[in-house]
Amino acid sequence: MTSAPTLTDEVDLPSAQPADGPTRPPTRPGLSPSRAGDFLQCPLLFRFRTIDRLPEPQSSAAARGTLVHAVLEHLFGLPAVERTLEAAHGLLPEQWALLRERTPEVDELFADDGALADWLGSARSLLATYFTLEDPRRLEPAERELYVVTDLDDGPQLRGIVDRLDVAPNGWVRVVDYKTGKSPRAGYESSALFQMRFYAYVLWRTRGVLPKRLQLEYLGDGTLLQHEPTEPEMLTFESRIRSIWSGIQDAARADDWRTRRSRLCDWCSFQAHCPEFGGTPPTLDADAVERATGVRPVSASA
Ligand code: SF4
Repeated sequence: MTSAPTLTDEVDLPSAQPADGPTRPPTRPGLSPSRAGDFLQCPLLFRFRTIDRLPEPQSSAAARGTLVHAVLEHLFGLPAVERTLEAAHGLLPEQWALLRERTPEVDELFADDGALADWLGSARSLLATYFTLEDPRRLEPAERELYVVTDLDDGPQLRGIVDRLDVAPNGWVRVVDYKTGKSPRAGYESSALFQMRFYAYVLWRTRGVLPKRLQLEYLGDGTLLQHEPTEPEMLTFESRIRSIWSGIQDAARADDWRTRRSRLCDWCSFQAHCPEFGGTPPTLDADAVERATGVRPVSASA
């Protein structure tokens, strides 16, 4: 089954800012891999998340993803020889404390201390699996939690956060993303690679260098998924992004946010607002539509 998205996949729209980066002026409508994926999964889901910006409850799987990503990021802040599994486990309590400080609602995920202990144990297991995939003592990442952004001509601003960027002495670039779920079944890799192609495309446009390798590291089952992108593939990807954006703007103009019911509805936080489940969407705010998509609903412009 598809894993619930982690918080680390998220890029806030339409005014995304890197967590620790400089403040920038408000930007044009944008698209992240997660939000493009929302639209492909279900246009109404895209509307709820990106335009209505409905609140979503925290989930233990998403919180664990955030915690494990934070530990791995800080692990690479240690001197190379100190990047052991014991060190990673040692970082867990402090990163858990920071997560609770930033999002106090995570406390409500656990009925009692036993449930919390089990959950922290599962985070320790994921970190142990990470060490079966690579040895961080032999790596020196060029970037961690890298905010990437580029303006697509006549299109949206493309934004994302790359977990890790490795640059070899010969200049080859590897884009690495950690997943705390399980790897996709054979034949279902393309949606996982969509996010990595998105990053590769933005890096190619902004740095003029096409990453040599895209690497997804699935800590849920200890699997690596690797791909070597090509320039023709990047051009095809650009067309795909333009087509998705065009679909978003068409839906926005027509105020036609269709539902697409699937097994993924089981993961959707918005069933109470979804007509497929007897709900009613909130009243649409035309200004919010314009901020998020760059176009106004025709009905609101009349
Ligand atoms: S419940 Fe399913 S159909 Fe409804 S908004 Fe969510 S993903 Fe779309």
